[in-house]
Amino acid sequence: MKYKRILLKLSGESLMGEQNYGIDPNRLVEYSAEIKSVVDMGVQVAIVIGGGNIYRGMQAEEVGLDRVQGDYMGMLATVINSMALQSALEKINVNTRLLSGINIQQVCEPYIRRRAMRHLEKGRVVIFGAGIGSPYFTTDSAASLRAIEIEADVVLKGTRVDGIYTADPEKDPKATRYTNITFQEVFEKDLNVMDMTAFTLCKENNLPIIVFDMNKKGNLSKVLDGEEIGTLVSMEPTEQPI
Ligand code: UDP
Repeated sequence: MKYKRILLKLSGESLMGEQNYGIDPNRLVEYSAEIKSVVDMGVQVAIVIGGGNIYRGMQAEEVGLDRVQGDYMGMLATVINSMALQSALEKINVNTRLLSGINIQQVCEPYIRRRAMRHLEKGRVVIFGAGIGSPYFTTDSAASLRAIEIEADVVLKGTRVDGIYTADPEKDPKATRYTNITFQEVFEKDLNVMDMTAFTLCKENNLPIIVFDMNKKGNLSKVLDGEEIGTLVSMEPTEQPI
C-alpha cells in the first residue's frame, strides 16, 4: 500500500447531500461505508470535516456579528458533523475517537498529538473536530496541519469534482483534468486547490494532496489502490493534463 496513514478532508457542504442545510443521513451512511472499506484494507485513517453545511464565520460578519464569535460557531459546527460521522461509523463497527481542538470534555477527547497517533496505531479512525481551535482558519488548514503533525502520508481532499482542472469545468467545456501537478504549478497557474494557508503548509512540508470525487462509490479505496483518479499535487514534475 502506497499510503499507510491518510488524512481525509471532507467539506461540511458535502454532508448536505441534496439538502440545503444540515446533514443528509444517506450521505453519512455512504461515507461511512467508504471509510470502513479502507480501514479494512489496513489503512490508518484520520478525518477532518468542515462545518459549512451549518455555519461559517464569514456569515457572522455579513450580518454584523463578531467575526471571531462566528468562527467559534463554525468550529462548533464541525464538532456536530464529526459527532454525526462518528456515530455512523460506530454503527457499522468501526472504532473511532473524536479529538477536538476546543475542549468539550463531555463529548470528545481534547486534541493531544501523541494520543491521536496511538489511536491510529491501534486501528481506530481518528476524527479531528473544531478545526485547529483558533479563529481565522479553515478546516482545510486544520487538515494540513493535523496531517503534518500525525505524519500522514497524504491529504485526500474529497470533493464533488474529480480533480483539478485547467479551468473551471462548469464554465469552460475545454477544461481538462490534471492527473499530476506540482505545488509550484498550482501557484503559478493560480489554481484553486485549498486556501493559501492550507496549501502552503502542505507545500513547505512536502505533503502530497490528492483531490478526488468522494461522492462516487468505491473512489476512496481506488485512490488508495493507486488508481489514477483525481489529481495528485506533489513536488514531482508534472505530466500533461489528460
Ligand atoms: N473555523 C475556524 N478555525 C478553524 C476551522 C474552522 O475558525 O481552524 C471556522 C470558520 O469560521 C469556518 C467554519 O469554522 O468558516 C467552518 O469550517 P470550513 O468553512 O472550513 O468548512 P467547509 O468549507 O469545509 O465546510
